[in-house]
Amino acid sequence: MTQLTGKVALVTGGSRGIGAAVAKRLAKDGAAVALTYAGSEDKAQAVVSDIEQAGGRAMAIQADSRDDQAIEDAVERVVSSLGGLDILVNNAGVFLIGDIAELGRDDLDRTLNINLRAPFVAIQAAARRMRDEGRIVSIGSNLGPRVPWPGLSLYSMSKTGLIGLTKGAARDLGPRGITVNVVHPGSTNTDMNPADGEMSDPQRDLMAIPRYNEADDVANLVRWLVGPEGRSVTGAEFTIDGGANA
Ligand code: NDP
Repeated sequence: MTQLTGKVALVTGGSRGIGAAVAKRLAKDGAAVALTYAGSEDKAQAVVSDIEQAGGRAMAIQADSRDDQAIEDAVERVVSSLGGLDILVNNAGVFLIGDIAELGRDDLDRTLNINLRAPFVAIQAAARRMRDEGRIVSIGSNLGPRVPWPGLSLYSMSKTGLIGLTKGAARDLGPRGITVNVVHPGSTNTDMNPADGEMSDPQRDLMAIPRYNEADDVANLVRWLVGPEGRSVTGAEFTIDGGANA
């Protein structure tokens, strides 16, 4: 018996990077985990296999975060297939950069739909199905609260919106003991932002501890928030960025 035994979790964008690490971390502590993906079916199935080989229970659901209905259907599938819903982690995201004068409306729609609208829709759907004492965590970014370079207006806007969503939802769902929080990772070694990428040195230059997060660092913080230890923590922001925003 571990601390998430009996809990059911849904992690969006769980095929790679931070979402895959979160899915495995929650499963390690006993949660049954569903993870969504957009295109990486093989990678999503590999995460499911890893969890099952370690003795856990998992399923992958193709659900594009740009599609409201797909998100709502994913929530329903989790409830019917895994027996309920206790934990939602809004992780799926995209990182589009560009000067505000140059960004296209397609860029605007894509970023807002995936990074902000989808978490709203998922929280709304989950709120109707989640058991009392549930947990909701959205993955924001340290580039929400602070914008150290040009080209980030759209991404920062999408991530800052999660802060208001988190605080508002915390107020709505608090009477049921459901917590809602946002985690702001800094530079984290994934496909989106490889630690040896062209732009990695300027990112390390901002940090107090000049070292990229591994996805597991973020997953461990999420795990704490969704566990019994986090029961009084809600409407809050958690920055994990090696001190870049300090
Ligand atoms: P990756 O690019 O490595 O992985 C992104 C994940 O999101 C994949 O599982 C991908 O699925 C999924 N995804 C993307 N678009 C969609 C969509 N339309 N519908 C469903 N799923 C989708 O990113 P990271 O792991 O680095 O990032 C995860 C989160 O953390 C994001 O919200 C990001 O903004 C945030 N973040 C990341 C930082 C970093 O330095 N890496 C820093 C701060 C925040 P598929 O494989 O199918 O494409």
